[in-house]
Amino acid sequence: MLRFDFLQARNLRHAISLLERHGEEARPVAGSTDFLVRWRQGFWRPACVVNIKGISGLGRITYSPQNGLRLGALATVQAIETNAQVRRRYQALATGATSFAGVQVRNLATVGGNVCNASPAGDTLPALLAFDAQCGITGPDGARILPLTEFFQGPGRTALQPGELLTELVLPPPPPRTGSLYIKHSPRGAMDIATVGVASVITLEEDGVTCRDARIALGAVGPVPFRAAEAESLLKGRELSPDALAQAAEAARHAATPIDDVRGTAAYRKDMVEALTRRTLQHALRMAGGRRVPFEEQRRLAVQTAF
Ligand SMILES: Cc1cc2nc3c(=O)[nH]c(=O)nc-3n(C[C@H](O)[C@H](O)[C@H](O)COP(=O)(O)OP(=O)(O)OC[C@H]3O[C@@H](n4cnc5c(N)ncnc54)[C@H](O)[C@@H]3O)c2cc1C
Repeated sequence: MLRFDFLQARNLRHAISLLERHGEEARPVAGSTDFLVRWRQGFWRPACVVNIKGISGLGRITYSPQNGLRLGALATVQAIETNAQVRRRYQALATGATSFAGVQVRNLATVGGNVCNASPAGDTLPALLAFDAQCGITGPDGARILPLTEFFQGPGRTALQPGELLTELVLPPPPPRTGSLYIKHSPRGAMDIATVGVASVITLEEDGVTCRDARIALGAVGPVPFRAAEAESLLKGRELSPDALAQAAEAARHAATPIDDVRGTAAYRKDMVEALTRRTLQHALRMAGGRRVPFEEQRRLAVQTAF
């Protein structure tokens, strides 16, 4: 049987010193939901595993109107899904979390692990991108901040340097008249990764009809999850008619560069990007316009099995 040393980090500094000491032989783990699968498959075989799950304070979720939402890297997907501020102000993130696996996995999986695993299909990633998340990173040379848009470098590859850990994600406070939604297309429904995932965020001007800001992020249709910048720019400053939403959805379709795999062909995924972008924009627009959508309804919308 293959063995590894299991080292328990007492605090952040201790974790970083363990990672520095063991270098490339070491891998940090949080919920271990990706780690155990990858280890069993033989993809990851570190000589030493540094468990960061016990580091106190890194699992906190806080919100303030000045600073927005701070998600400690160890916050579980379940804690995010059930957080009242997330549900109220960051609906796309709450729906990303609710679409994620089953409750047992959500109780173990951390947002930091989802981000650092850097799967193009990670379910929290489109919403984090669409809410302009910034990454708090700490390593041997101190702390730094990096926009999430610069964090992903390829499937499974991130901007983290040796010995560095992701410590938190910070999402600015959404302005008034903002609504958002994430939809995951997954033909199997539960316990499967996204075939396509789209998060849209809309902010309206005071007049309640003109788009002040629009943010659209796509998952599972490129080597990394990304913002569909051209689609966003087609909406800003305009009244959001069905035609405007359709044009943005088409631009998102052009931005997608999916591959064929067991979950769907590239052509099918492009169709799904267009459909989900239009649908997430429609719901985000309604919410931005003041329509209350109970979380149960958002949960129902969050996973689409068929079209
Ligand atoms: C049955 C099952 C269903 C799943 N369903 C979904 C799903 O529907 N949607 C989805 O998106 N994912 C899904 N996953 C994948 C997985 O649960 C998520 O990616 C999860 O968020 C990973 O978090 P974790 O804490 O378990 O990470 P871990 O497994 O502990 O770590 C994952 C990776 O991130 C690194 N890492 C973790 N935390 C940090 C940190 N703070 N700083 C630096 N590096 C770090 C680790 O070294 C490792 O490389 C599923 C997994 C399983 C087993």
